[in-house]
Amino acid sequence: MFITFNEFSQRADKIRAEIAKVCAAAGRDPREVELMAVTKTHPAAAVDYAARYGLRAVGENRVQEAADKKPLATATIAWELIGHLQSNKARLAVGCFDRVQSVDSEKLLLHLDRAAGELGKTLPILLQINAGDDPAKFGADLADAPRLVEAALAKKNICVDGLMTIAPLGATPAETAAHAARTFANLRTLRDDLAARLGTPLRELSMGMSGDLAAAVAAGSTLVRVGTALYGARE
Ligand SMILES: *Cc1c(COP(=O)(O)O)cnc(C)c1O
Repeated sequence: MFITFNEFSQRADKIRAEIAKVCAAAGRDPREVELMAVTKTHPAAAVDYAARYGLRAVGENRVQEAADKKPLATATIAWELIGHLQSNKARLAVGCFDRVQSVDSEKLLLHLDRAAGELGKTLPILLQINAGDDPAKFGADLADAPRLVEAALAKKNICVDGLMTIAPLGATPAETAAHAARTFANLRTLRDDLAARLGTPLRELSMGMSGDLAAAVAAGSTLVRVGTALYGARE
């Protein structure tokens, strides 16, 4: 059976408290850090819980799953794509999502820009960077990131809000923690460099999930993407 709203609410309170604690230690304002609920594999009720609690957005990692779930959710909330997107699904994604966090190639940019133009909208995006050099992860290589960001900034129907990354898993908890710290520091440094060089804020740093959100917030995350810690383990 799926969790109740009360359980969801208690878990969300606990995560917010953890974010506040890390922010206090890092000298950050906790209002700079958004909690986004990752509802993939969960029923539409998961989306309604997030909205009722007051969260701005939910994250889904597959276009078709989100398209199927959207009509079943009664609450109004923003939908964001956080999973890999193939160019041939760009049009469907632009129609379905309020923001795409997983843009990782110039080819995909081209398709998204064209689809947004055809649908008469400006699409907010994040560029996904493989800031931890994980061979198993999608995302542009750190070395290719400057060119990708410049290409995105030049697109007429796209608005670049910032960067996103996923930290690689290690063989042990200590190794995973080390990867996370390195990955988040890399993304933060890249953002600061590019923002200064290109004269654009790239405000959003989407980093941190259930297992590594404290490290991400300490490193400057503005948005943590949390599934398991809110809804329990996925099947
Ligand atoms: C599934 C997913 C998450 C949430 O992961 P949890 O460990 O369940 O919090 C965050 N980001 C991305 C890109 C995901 O695919």
